[in-house]
Amino acid sequence: MIRDYFRVLVVDLALGKGKVTKVPGRDEVAGGSGLGALLFNRYGKTDRPWDDPEQPLIFAIGPLTGYFPLMSKTVAAFKSPYHDQYAESHAGGRSALAIRFADYDALVLTGRATRPSALVVGSRHLELKDVHYLWGLDIQESGKLLRRMFKGSGHRSILRIGPAGEQKSAMAGINVDTYRHFGRLGGGGVMGAKNLKAIVIIGDGSFPLMEGKDYPRLFESVHRKLTATDMMQKYHNLGTPANVAILNELQALPWRNLQATTDPEVHGISGERFAETALLRNAACAGCPVGCIHIGFSRERFQTDYRYFYRQVSYDHEPIFATGSMLGVTDCFAILDLLDVIEQMGLDVMSAGVALAWATEALEKGVISAAETLLPLRFGDHNTYEQAVRYLAYGVNEFYRLLAQGTLKAAAHYGGADFACVLGQEMAGYATGEVFFTSQALGLRHSHLDSAGYAYDQKYPEKDVTKAVDFLMAEEASRSFLTSMVACLFARGVYSEELLADCLRVVGYGALADNIDAVSRTIQKLRWQTRLATGFDPHRVAIPKRFTEITTWKGKLDAEFLSTLQNTYARRILELTGEAKG
Ligand code: SF4
Repeated sequence: MIRDYFRVLVVDLALGKGKVTKVPGRDEVAGGSGLGALLFNRYGKTDRPWDDPEQPLIFAIGPLTGYFPLMSKTVAAFKSPYHDQYAESHAGGRSALAIRFADYDALVLTGRATRPSALVVGSRHLELKDVHYLWGLDIQESGKLLRRMFKGSGHRSILRIGPAGEQKSAMAGINVDTYRHFGRLGGGGVMGAKNLKAIVIIGDGSFPLMEGKDYPRLFESVHRKLTATDMMQKYHNLGTPANVAILNELQALPWRNLQATTDPEVHGISGERFAETALLRNAACAGCPVGCIHIGFSRERFQTDYRYFYRQVSYDHEPIFATGSMLGVTDCFAILDLLDVIEQMGLDVMSAGVALAWATEALEKGVISAAETLLPLRFGDHNTYEQAVRYLAYGVNEFYRLLAQGTLKAAAHYGGADFACVLGQEMAGYATGEVFFTSQALGLRHSHLDSAGYAYDQKYPEKDVTKAVDFLMAEEASRSFLTSMVACLFARGVYSEELLADCLRVVGYGALADNIDAVSRTIQKLRWQTRLATGFDPHRVAIPKRFTEITTWKGKLDAEFLSTLQNTYARRILELTGEAKG
């Protein structure tokens, strides 16, 4: 049965105790992103630092999770070690369904465990287990043990951190069920600060489905659209790595720290090359019939007699960009080897790859020396990068510790900010132009998925500031609603506003269905107010010079257009929240 409130499990990690609380607001913020912001406003401390034990780590799902396919994400909300401001990060895997089956809309974790611990929650079960013996283990080792310790595969979801999270790195992600991640903005560091090695969610409850024929009929029609039409085909086939060759052709793929936007060596790292030589299988988040997760392999020889063991490694466009083109690595197996190390260390791959690309250029230019890097970093040398990734995760010296807090923090200390590829956080794998750079730099999550500026760049050649910023604002509002539904954004073409309204109505959320526009705007505003309350000033975001030096298929980047876009978007964000001056 649906509820008109949120059922939230609030856990105090210091005490190892939890309490179920009813939180009103379903018809105003829906769930997911909206619920994350609502709960942060209730439990967060805007004026205290991110690692204050009282800061909450929130995991929220949406009203359609468990009822319709691809409502498969969980939204993590927290104060970020990256910028000490409110942040959101999204992940798939099994976590959303496990939370649904455990009968919660959200988990809120406050306090700090006294010992390195694993939190285990089910519908009638809460345990904070001392797992000091897992501290220091990498993602694979800890996963193996956690799966044995906490039975219940299928409806069980395991969230865990690696050494980077234990070091409270701002680039540490949270691994979800091995192949998915809350990657960006340091959620892994937040778990590390809470002494939390793992969270095991056991979906040991159940929930009834709606009676009558309307629900199964609608479900079937959604399922058909997802599986029997070509709407999702590209995600299943080559997956997002299909973008690698396309962007390279457009002169929009960042190469070697964005010193170039295209390179003939792309054939070694294209989606086609991965699929033809390295793809083992596809996998899927729970409740998804599409299966866009592409899994290749990394193998290691352990005997002179041609004996190997191998590990399965997932790949996507972004990881290929971050460890491939950005680092000048042009062999798909070298990329998989590097991805494997980044996975084991529990680092966010985009942040780590872009940070090491900056370090390589800084070393080349003499801004830093081998005394800092400890290694002769060189574009294309994946073996050296594997070691550098470990140094970054463990923070072996002052240089790597600073770099792990963000490339711009290292650049502020050593120099080289002009060529730091940072747009709010380390850039995503699109060098499509001014609108994308503005959208990532100022976007709420600093994600390419916040408002699809990369799509705008490719679709509209004219330099119309108002049109571009209107697009970003509208796209952000509509995506805020989708991420509050916790829909996988790959399904945004399927889940139109009309279809979402039908789905909400059939499940029983009629008020939400009738007010999608208003609710979208409420969520958009609430998220921005929360971010601003923790210190974000969109007018203070600087876009480094490197971004103005590139050439794409449209020609040389227009620095003036970029600057006007930035100012206009910043003003519109402040107007939206009622904070614009004058
Ligand atoms: S399309 Fe991919 S990311 Fe989206 S829910 Fe399915 S498997 Fe997960």
